[in-house]
Amino acid sequence: MVTRITHWIDGAPVEGTSGRTSPVYNPATGLVSAECYLATTAEVATAVAAAKEAAREWRSASLSRRSAVVFAFRELLHANADELAKIITSEHGKVLSDAHGEIARGLENVEFAAGVPQLLKGGFSEQAGTGVDVYSIRQPLGVVAGITPFNFPAMVPLWMAANAIACGNAFVLKPSEKDPSASLWLARKWQEAGLPDGVFNVVQGDKDAVDALLTHPDVEAVSFVGSTPIARYIYETGTANGKRVQALGGAKNHMMVLPDADIDLAADAAVSAAYGAAGERCMSISVAVAVGDAGDRLVDAIAARLPKLRIGDGADPDSEMGPLITEEHRDKVAGYIAAGAESGATVVVDGRAGDVPSDGFFLGTTLLDNVTRDMSVYTDEIFGPVLSVVRAQTYDDALELINSNQFANGTAIFTRDGGVARQFQFDVQVGMVGINVPIPVPVAYYSFGGWKDSLFGDTHMYGPEGINFYTRGKVVTSRWPDPATSAVDLGFPRTR
Ligand code: NAD
Repeated sequence: MVTRITHWIDGAPVEGTSGRTSPVYNPATGLVSAECYLATTAEVATAVAAAKEAAREWRSASLSRRSAVVFAFRELLHANADELAKIITSEHGKVLSDAHGEIARGLENVEFAAGVPQLLKGGFSEQAGTGVDVYSIRQPLGVVAGITPFNFPAMVPLWMAANAIACGNAFVLKPSEKDPSASLWLARKWQEAGLPDGVFNVVQGDKDAVDALLTHPDVEAVSFVGSTPIARYIYETGTANGKRVQALGGAKNHMMVLPDADIDLAADAAVSAAYGAAGERCMSISVAVAVGDAGDRLVDAIAARLPKLRIGDGADPDSEMGPLITEEHRDKVAGYIAAGAESGATVVVDGRAGDVPSDGFFLGTTLLDNVTRDMSVYTDEIFGPVLSVVRAQTYDDALELINSNQFANGTAIFTRDGGVARQFQFDVQVGMVGINVPIPVPVAYYSFGGWKDSLFGDTHMYGPEGINFYTRGKVVTSRWPDPATSAVDLGFPRTR
């Protein structure tokens, strides 16, 4: 019998009622491993109602209790990371070490959230006026929703839920229907950690479930991570319905390599950042911009490394790159390689001819050289193991290329010149910048977010901006009667 992947509402698994399901694959075998229920508007409403009820109590829980629950959850996540990594690999396809990496980055966010008593401290101004004190507090919003992509089925929900819950909200997660099992694992661990039922809920689903969340009057805020067209839609629809929205979109991350760079370091970085997780990361490097005579050396160094990359089932500890998420996506990525070749790019390594397992949704690594800005391999987010090299004459030409791109999630520069690196950090119009670091994902005590079409809304995710996103500020101005006029005998001399 096919396994059905349920919702999780008010502390228990709930079977779907829509009659609609979506297949979940093991991308390494190509076989269907489960069917995921797709929620109706009514099922979403049940989850939101449970969350609303739970939020009433949870916001009253003391900061130390909330912190203790988050800390207990942290311990469970840490102790059982192997189990979660296997679940991620079985539905996403990424190699186990990568699944562990994702969990480690999610864990950082849980650790940050466990410090919630410190994070929610307000300001206090004594004697703002005579006998008047002013202070600020931050309060939870109520029910908040998270809509997450397939490529990080544990980390991205943790980016959102850890802070949202620590701040005293109840959370409704709508994970990707392509790899939904990690969400249920997280739900069980929250429960084991002592989180009251209803504070963390999961509705499985597709557009119907998303639309139900975006229009539900009791959902106060929506955090989204996914592709740019959907991010734009979520932002526009959510805000039109009066919600606070942060919507992170797609990416096309450039890595600039200057002639003075350590080419071996840059090539190692390019290989891990372009082909890790089969290129299905929003911070993957998809364009290397080689300046001046760095080009030939860089292309040769990357090409020399690719045959050594072991491609196979992510569950095999020897594999370094796994399959793509679906057959359809694999074929789409292969289509881009064909389009690149037709439009004049030099195919240095062709992933379609790669030595990969015949079952499952595998594609080899592709390296394209002499890519130009009009080619679809350059303009589109491919989200696969394809690295394009664009040649530039000067730093200024390379910078202009990066700054002209519609996406602005992450970027990196490889150079030995600190002054140039500093100038790049000043000039570049991108939200996250690496200096000799190819994937500059901020640690949990900073915030994550791109610019331009990589983020809709003005709040980045997690870190201090996450705490602000999940709370509302309130300022209290107070005056107490002069104790000199008090009818109560204080029993000691009053001093001023
Ligand atoms: P996606 O946009 O297809 O799906 C994301 C979520 O939106 C899923 O939960 C999905 O069910 C839902 N969804 C899909 N179509 C919808 C529709 N028409 N209406 C309403 N909801 C819809 O993205 P994906 O393929 O799951 O993930 C890959 C994308 O996510 C890439 O573009 C990647 O760059 C991006 N991403 C961005 C970041 C970031 O931090 N900026 C991080 C991870 C992934």
